[in-house]
Amino acid sequence: MRYSGFKVIKEALTGHKGWTPQWRDPEPQSHYDFVIIGGGGHGLATAYYLAKEFGESRIAVLEKGWIGGGNVGRNTTIIRSNYLLDGNEPFYEFSLKLWEGLEQDFNYNAMVSQRGILNLVHTDAQRDAARRRGNAMILNGSDAELLDVEGVRKLYPFLNFDNARFPIKGGLLHRRGGTVRHDAVAWGYARGADMRGVDIIQNCEVTGFKIEDGTCLGVETTRGYIGAGKVGVSVAGSSSRVMEKAGMRLPMESHVLQAFVSEGLKPVLPGVITYGAGHFYCSQSDKGGLVFGGDIDGYNSYAQRGNMPVIEDVAEGGISLIPALGRVRLLRAWGGIMDMSMDGSPIIDKTHIDGLYFNGGWCYGGFKATPAAGWCFAHLLKTDTPHDTATAYRFDRFRTGHMIDEKGQGAQPNLH
Ligand SMILES: Cc1cc2nc3c(=O)[nH]c(=O)nc-3n(C[C@H](O)[C@H](O)[C@H](O)COP(=O)(O)OP(=O)(O)OC[C@H]3O[C@@H](n4cnc5c(N)ncnc54)[C@H](O)[C@@H]3O)c2cc1C
Repeated sequence: MRYSGFKVIKEALTGHKGWTPQWRDPEPQSHYDFVIIGGGGHGLATAYYLAKEFGESRIAVLEKGWIGGGNVGRNTTIIRSNYLLDGNEPFYEFSLKLWEGLEQDFNYNAMVSQRGILNLVHTDAQRDAARRRGNAMILNGSDAELLDVEGVRKLYPFLNFDNARFPIKGGLLHRRGGTVRHDAVAWGYARGADMRGVDIIQNCEVTGFKIEDGTCLGVETTRGYIGAGKVGVSVAGSSSRVMEKAGMRLPMESHVLQAFVSEGLKPVLPGVITYGAGHFYCSQSDKGGLVFGGDIDGYNSYAQRGNMPVIEDVAEGGISLIPALGRVRLLRAWGGIMDMSMDGSPIIDKTHIDGLYFNGGWCYGGFKATPAAGWCFAHLLKTDTPHDTATAYRFDRFRTGHMIDEKGQGAQPNLH
């Protein structure tokens, strides 16, 4: 079904009886050219671009739960292209350019809103680092503006500027950053892929791989065996559990990250802000709720829920930046499982098993990557070569020492 203003009016006048499901519910076939494991944003985008850009049609996406039930529907919806390192920034700039044309591309309202993201700085050293990052962004075709304290005050007059410990001294503004309605991204890609013949098979958990003589021939699932020319794994927080079934141990840990939404307020936050001292980031949804988050819970877990100490920690960070937040009621909180890599950067690569490919390690930055991760993973699956913007996202960087350590934190996933 295609959508238009005319269709909305027609349905409104005829009792909304003409809407049909946005994708089919097909039975799995015995063999596909490409099987993508994981029906999150990345898996669906991979199938979409395989069909649309690379002309493939015999594709299945296998999802153990339902479309939108994983991190794609749990994140704080922030998109941006404000990275420092060469291995990262061209990729995220590619992704942001895809976001900018996405709604026209898949004819679906994903509420892409480039409302700007502001990273606050609190010390002279942070300002130097922000200037350097801004220059790296501009060199890679992104946008960046360094604001002084008065520039920040004009945008966000209610921040705690004169905090004795963390006074606000300015910020790095990335105007093309913003937010996107996350579950609409999953639905838009699912619908677009389905329209091009991709079978989206929900309630179908992959339980094993059929590997013979070093080649992956297909997958065992709760709905039977499915043969495949190539298998792409894109299961985010479940990466280590799924790849273990192929005998691989990943340089990755799974951690919980929580997100929070307040009661609805009148418009107060024009863009996205991140606190440069505590770990706290916040935006306002179109319904009025403040959407915010902070650190991961800090212990390994596969549970999609977090614990109270981090709720307290995030609330403290938020209130020290925006004192008025203390008067706002928290409405909802939830958790997702993060696939935290050792250097904080992702992997889009072939494995040592022929026909088995991997996309993961996105830590808490994978939502903004959704279009480019899908495109680059599709490129790798189709051509067996990495896309130009994703050449650094290799497994062997942990062997050769070519880390992409954006934060300079070292090999400790819970610090990225
Ligand atoms: C609270 C929170 C806030 C975040 N905020 C941001 C943000 O603001 N900006 C940003 O860029 N990123 C953010 N992220 C990160 C981002 O959401 C993830 O990196 C990204 O969504 C991961 O890719 P995905 O959408 O494909 O994952 P998912 O939606 O998790 O997809 C993976 C799918 O694989 C399925 N699966 C797992 N095992 C199997 C199996 N054996 N068989 C079949 N299917 C399987 C799962 O059910 C799941 O649906 C956040 C994450 C969380 C949890």
